Amino acid sequence: MAAATQLHVMVLPFPAQGHVIPLMELSHRLADQGFKIDFVNTEFNHDRVLKALAEKGAIPGGIRMLSIPDGLDPADDHTDIGKLVQVLPAAMLSPLEKMIRSEKIKWVIVDVSMSWALELATTMGVRIALFSTYSAAIFALRMNLPKLIEDGILDETGNVKKHEMVQLMPPIDAAEIPWVSLGSTQERRRYNIQNVFKTNRLMALAEMIICNTFREIESEALELLSNALPVGPLLAPASGPTGHFLPEDMTCLTWLDTQAPGSVIYVAFGSSTIFDVAQFHELANGLAVSDQPFLWVVRPNFTNGIQEDWFNEYKDRIKGKGLVISWAPQQRVLSHPSIACFMSHCGWNSTMEGVLHGVPFLCWPYFSDQFCNQSYICNVWKTGIKLCRDKQGVVTQEEIKNKAAQLLEDKEIKERAVTLKTTARASIQEGGSSHQNFLELVNLLREQ
Ligand code: UDP
Repeated sequence: MAAATQLHVMVLPFPAQGHVIPLMELSHRLADQGFKIDFVNTEFNHDRVLKALAEKGAIPGGIRMLSIPDGLDPADDHTDIGKLVQVLPAAMLSPLEKMIRSEKIKWVIVDVSMSWALELATTMGVRIALFSTYSAAIFALRMNLPKLIEDGILDETGNVKKHEMVQLMPPIDAAEIPWVSLGSTQERRRYNIQNVFKTNRLMALAEMIICNTFREIESEALELLSNALPVGPLLAPASGPTGHFLPEDMTCLTWLDTQAPGSVIYVAFGSSTIFDVAQFHELANGLAVSDQPFLWVVRPNFTNGIQEDWFNEYKDRIKGKGLVISWAPQQRVLSHPSIACFMSHCGWNSTMEGVLHGVPFLCWPYFSDQFCNQSYICNVWKTGIKLCRDKQGVVTQEEIKNKAAQLLEDKEIKERAVTLKTTARASIQEGGSSHQNFLELVNLLREQ
């Protein structure tokens, strides 16, 4: 019989922040169950994660951090998702094979956006569980893409033929289907659609799809997936590394302690959304004129071309009312009693985190699955409201001020958010649906 220390699982995230964080959270939970985890980042991200960790002084327990070059030239932009998608398979497949062989790995948890690695199931006989970083609804939509084309809603190159609401759960506009909205050019959309077809075929090689969601919130979508294992919402470990590329600014927690309960707007747009200068100014002014205090995450690459002097003067102007930081300990912020609502781009991790902590949303989606997540929040769960763009495509400062006030006055939205939080908590506690699924996952991974 294999000794407990030999239970060994490899984890392979796609090299983007919204993928590394949830897979690291899952890894922590597996490490708590006695698994040895080999967490394989690209070299670029490995260095970023270790640097951010060093500043926190944390050491991963049971998690070994490994890395493989991403295949880009050193001078290239190692955060360019489009380029990464193209070069990763050739760069990573053979080093992965070597690692799997030398460590005698039996199970690999593969990010859904790295599904080329499913080939390893055929070539090496390794067992593979896929991890979905998006909702079960989007996963089901992806499996249904051929049907949408058959029904004449899209064509094979991702052009929208019929502008109608796709009646999956939740309803979304055909133009907001991720593989369509992600492609700014015809070429890009064609590539996206063809890639979904190709990877859908490969998905059959996965023994299960681990989802960062829970049965009670996505039951209809989960019904459409035969081998989905919802284990979410994933909780950030109270201590230890969580795979962040930037150090988390903990000073904001002390600042939140000084604010009135349920008063602060938390503003964060995930790891990759970029604002143009005009929209950035409008947001800055909207927060400044709103009636609430705010905590705003402005990543170093959040906007281009902003005048440093102007921004420094702005930060002075809002002192006492607002705090601007580069990167937050998001789950700890969302669980803080001072938080009133979450102005969010509706990335799936942020969506689950807002749900887990019972926070109402001000939704401001940009691309990919974010519109579908917004539809869940506003149309299905009814735990948030939309920020709307004007004719020029700008969310104005008046809109920000008004919608923030409207959301904060709406007691029913808050009540629904709190009810959802209770359901989410129950699902991850002992006996809950996600907890049971997690134990099922653990048992399966123990078959080494
Ligand atoms: N996040 C964080 N601090 C921040 C902003 C974001 O820790 O200041 C985390 C957030 O908790 C989430 C992830 O970054 O886990 C972002 O993932 P999401 O799917 O929401 O958005 P993406 O970055 O993929 O667009």
